[in-house]
Amino acid sequence: MQTKAFAAQSPTTPFAPTTIERREPGPKDVAIEILFCGVCHSDLHTARGEWPGTQYPCVPGHEIIGKVTAVGGEVKTFKPGQIVGVGCLVDSCRTCGSCKEDLEQYCDGPIGFTGTYNGPVGGGPNTHGGYSAAITVDEHFVLAINHTEKDLAAAAPLLCAGITTWSPLKHWNAGPGKKVGIVGIGGLGHMGVKLSHALGAHTVAFTTSPDKIADAKALGADEVVVSKNADEMAKHTNSFDLIINTVAAPHNLDSFTNLLKRDGSMVVVGVPASPHPSPAVFNLIFKRRAIAGSLIGGIAETQEMLDFCAKHGITSDIEVIAMQDIEKAYARMLKSDVKYRFVIDMQTLKNG
Ligand code: NAP
Ligand code: ZN
Ligand code: ZN
Repeated sequence: MQTKAFAAQSPTTPFAPTTIERREPGPKDVAIEILFCGVCHSDLHTARGEWPGTQYPCVPGHEIIGKVTAVGGEVKTFKPGQIVGVGCLVDSCRTCGSCKEDLEQYCDGPIGFTGTYNGPVGGGPNTHGGYSAAITVDEHFVLAINHTEKDLAAAAPLLCAGITTWSPLKHWNAGPGKKVGIVGIGGLGHMGVKLSHALGAHTVAFTTSPDKIADAKALGADEVVVSKNADEMAKHTNSFDLIINTVAAPHNLDSFTNLLKRDGSMVVVGVPASPHPSPAVFNLIFKRRAIAGSLIGGIAETQEMLDFCAKHGITSDIEVIAMQDIEKAYARMLKSDVKYRFVIDMQTLKNG
């Protein structure tokens, strides 16, 4: 199927309209008309070649909400007309230990999981993401969406920003009695604040943008710390069970590890184009503190998060944009000026 899309042709070429080929649905496939697609900072890193291995043309987008248009003969879970989601992965080996444990994002197969865009993580044919009119995805990687129709655009960012913060919050047991910090109030961070609060943890937002203090409180933060202010930071020394760091730029991690209590962990989910300065070891060993990483989430866990959010009325705070405004959105993202996720209305693709 010839499908309209927006692609970057090289790290320095602005996005422009193009046509891509989508496969006809096979027996286990779901064909989806894309209604909305969230804009993740990973889209920008990938399209601009900031991470190794971008394949061009690059059609990013892994926060997809759409309507099923056709299903293959063996598809059991989805029907035409149904509203569904597609997140960051569209395939994996299905047989390795991680896949069998519903942790497809950590697939141990020879090429790892297949990203919704940019192909398998270990190399292979390119895949094209949600900056497009339609996508065909194996049923296993399609999510059920139970949000109401008016919330569909705002539900899109749950597919990456939501699950990427939900997964470490759950894995490191965020909940009542725990003090959780969220660093960086952008797409991921604002979802982290909402979800940590909804899970019952005492939630502290760290921001470099003083103008986000009131918003962070409204999102559910019990306290907000301007991380450039050393005195404010010092008040939280040795107090956190968990800190989730979503910052997309290299920075000094020590000022956050110092805030962990004994056996506390900082989970780094932001992936800057160049490394953070190496963390100091002394403040890790003296309190058995850990720095860990976490990658998106598995399909079952993503469904669990989507159902939790539908039940608790949780969506992303979004600004809907036209496809043609993607470069402007990226420029604002680089200035930390996202309130708090851009979502593309895919009907605007028709405007050329
Ligand atoms: P985003 O919307 O641009 O938010 C990042 C936030 O970090 C900014 O809003 C800003 O918040 C803060 N920040 C930016 N530059 C900073 C700097 N120089 N120093 C300190 N703080 C800074 O990005 P996003 O979409 O949330 O993505 C964040 C990162 O996570 C990206 O690197 C992305 O690729 C990565 N990611 C990882 C995974 C995973 O599976 N691990 C999944 C998705 C995305 P304040 O204004 O509040 O300081
Ligand atoms: Zn993402
Ligand atoms: Zn696998």
